Amino acid sequence: MTVRSDDYRSQGARRKLVQELRTKGIHAPAVLDAIGLVPRHLFFEDSALRLHAYEDKAFPIGCGQTISQPYTVAFQTQLLEVRRGDRVLEVGTGSGYQTAVLAAMGAKVWSVERHRPLFLTTRARLGSMGYRAALYHGDGFQGLPTYAPYDRILVTCGAPFVPEPLVEQLRIGGSLVIPVGEGPVQRMVRIRRLEDDTLSREEHGDFRFVPMLADRQ
Ligand code: SAH
Repeated sequence: MTVRSDDYRSQGARRKLVQELRTKGIHAPAVLDAIGLVPRHLFFEDSALRLHAYEDKAFPIGCGQTISQPYTVAFQTQLLEVRRGDRVLEVGTGSGYQTAVLAAMGAKVWSVERHRPLFLTTRARLGSMGYRAALYHGDGFQGLPTYAPYDRILVTCGAPFVPEPLVEQLRIGGSLVIPVGEGPVQRMVRIRRLEDDTLSREEHGDFRFVPMLADRQ
């Protein structure tokens, strides 16, 4: 297998992963289709780990960060209810895998990453794979006001609280999915900005993410 190629073995492993996610409760066809399409093994820097790319696990990607577990990616993406053509802001680009899943669903994606080395590697990776997403090195606590408002905002690191700029950058009718909590475990929160410009908030279980940090590196 060459480093940047897809193959039958990987495609078969992806089909199995999609089945596994179905049995774990992921039902949105658009989400399952995207997971079935995006070659997760190409988002790993460490070739030894690449063999495990279709296990439902998180793995290290450098800078002390991780590529999220496929179930978590699928769960957040399903909660986000992304529609083709939606403007989506992602906070925490990491490996770019979630970014690619959103792009594969037809979303127009902006993504912010605080670690410069990760930002640079992932920008090159997504570019070479042909995914169109606008990547920025910056602090996700500020969102990305230049391109706001967004239909959807997705945070892929554990936030100590819901950053106000993210709520402000939501379009009316839009929603924000964000894991919130200061310890090792966060609650998955979905906030909707309703038509009358009030906010609704729901919680959807516990997850473990790397922490959202303020200082840019
Ligand atoms: N979506 C990624 C998840 C990576 S882990 C993937 O599938 O690979 C979360 C990422 O959030 C890490 O890369 C981390 O560096 C980044 N992060 C943490 N705090 C941040 C902040 N304040 N702004 C932007 N990114 C942040």
